[in-house]
Amino acid sequence: MNEILDLSINEMPNTEFDCSCGRRHHFSVQEMSIRKGAIYDLPKMVEPFRDGKILVVFDNNTYEAAGKKAVQLLKENGFNIKELLFDTGNDILIPDERTLGRILQAQDLDCSLMIAVGSGVINDAVKFVTSRTKLPYIIVATAPSMDGYVADGAPIICEGYKYSPVAHLTYGMVGDTDVLLTAPQDLIESGFGDMVGKITAVADWDLSVKVTGEYRCDTCVKLTERAMKICFEKAEGIKTRDGDSLLALLEALTLTGVAMALVNISRPASGAEHMLSHYWEMDYIARGLNPIHHGTQVGVATPVIARFFELMEDLLPEGTKELCPSPQEIRELLAKGGAPTTPKEIGIDRELFRQSLLNGYKVRPRYSIMQFAHEHGRLEQIAEQITSEIYD
Ligand SMILES: [Zn+2]
Ligand SMILES: [Zn+2]
Repeated sequence: MNEILDLSINEMPNTEFDCSCGRRHHFSVQEMSIRKGAIYDLPKMVEPFRDGKILVVFDNNTYEAAGKKAVQLLKENGFNIKELLFDTGNDILIPDERTLGRILQAQDLDCSLMIAVGSGVINDAVKFVTSRTKLPYIIVATAPSMDGYVADGAPIICEGYKYSPVAHLTYGMVGDTDVLLTAPQDLIESGFGDMVGKITAVADWDLSVKVTGEYRCDTCVKLTERAMKICFEKAEGIKTRDGDSLLALLEALTLTGVAMALVNISRPASGAEHMLSHYWEMDYIARGLNPIHHGTQVGVATPVIARFFELMEDLLPEGTKELCPSPQEIRELLAKGGAPTTPKEIGIDRELFRQSLLNGYKVRPRYSIMQFAHEHGRLEQIAEQITSEIYD
């Protein structure tokens, strides 16, 4: 029962166990190497696919960070390699029709595996395309920037709209300290912000369990809590880019990914703070602007949602408030890890912020503290109050 809790992250692949939640869970990622020097495990991981061509996908930055080394190691080991470079210059790669189509074009008929070298977009794009063409893929993580490495959803853009279709899980994952050390600071901040968001995600799940009777898996909650502990203990080192701390951040993000993969929902890692982030992001995309990094938005949304929990305290079910620290404590934690602490600081304007509080709960059909406030007729008053606390 709950055997996965006894395993270290690198022991978790292909674990199947009976869980105290009544279900049998299977973590079907086959290979994981998260450690210093992990990139040297790549050839061994790729070995089962030797008969076909290996398509390695990267952009200019991720080529320098890990793509070059990955290609060199695979060539030395006699693999048949094809490379696809996204030459994006100063622009951010967007996972839209063009990017997905380009990957599809590069997939030859004899391709047996794709390797995504990158973090957010390259991972999502390769994940989506391979799920549709039924090829396995391996992710070589270049930044501890988000928790989607071992998740099966792939956020992509279609005709300007972002949505997150079910794709599939990666076959394997490589996370190497020496590669993470080359990650830009804003991506590290984003990963840390995404981890801070788990605080309100767990509180929101608890609220929904108690108010709506939604299913919960305590093993997954424990994995998320373990992830938060690993990461928050290293907050200062994350700010100063210490290698062990960056690896801890990647491990924490991956652990929450494991939790999501076990229950096939993002509940263990995503609550109302993610809804605010999605609301802001869709607004930016609609206006043709480059969105702010996912986790950075999630991070600054977390104390805002914690404020909701504070203002709804008198109506919360027993035990829920205890799961959510004060907004001030969360802002201090964000600052310790070097991440922005308020939506104002990252350029979210007052009106967008106010609208997101009023309408964020509609972003997806998931019960949260915002829905709870709405049902109790307090959403408008809370939205005005929090907006003026932050912006006036
Ligand atoms: Zn997230
Ligand atoms: Zn379970």
